[in-house]
Amino acid sequence: MNIERTLSIIKPDGVEKNLIGEVYRRFEQAGLRIVASRMLQLSQAQAEAFYAVHRERPFYRDLVNYMISGPVVAQVLEGENAIERHREIMGATDPKKAAKGTIRADLAASIEENVVHGSDGAETARNEIAFFFAQSDICPRLR
Ligand code: GDP
Repeated sequence: MNIERTLSIIKPDGVEKNLIGEVYRRFEQAGLRIVASRMLQLSQAQAEAFYAVHRERPFYRDLVNYMISGPVVAQVLEGENAIERHREIMGATDPKKAAKGTIRADLAASIEENVVHGSDGAETARNEIAFFFAQSDICPRLR
């Protein structure tokens, strides 16, 4: 078993559209366990830092403004190959290119307003989990 943890965010459009339960249902149905969870309003500085890797991209300013446009829900997901499994459930960044049945294909409005974020690798997952959660916030379920 390759048990991993990954960082997931329901972005402001997902929260605004009342999709928290729908997204959580999909995580749980896929066998991912929610081991930490919190709702928060990101500050501009936090959103800029979280997406710093994209700071040279033309959409960076819009992305930061979108991410601070309302509250988000951040969670740590745990499970077998959780990083890759979560990315599969999310679907491609652009909902028009996302596979049918994925969160983004079914629920997202655009390449920017795409409902969810998920870590894209082991190191990113470690850093992104630490961005939102202290070790003591995490309640392991699979041990
Ligand atoms: P992800 O890992 O699938 O979320 O995709 P990226 O790391 O490449 O991009 C981060 C986020 O930036 C995406 O989820 C979108 O919200 C936004 N984004 C990515 N590409 C574009 C783009 O071409 N235009 C705009 N407006 N936003 C984008």
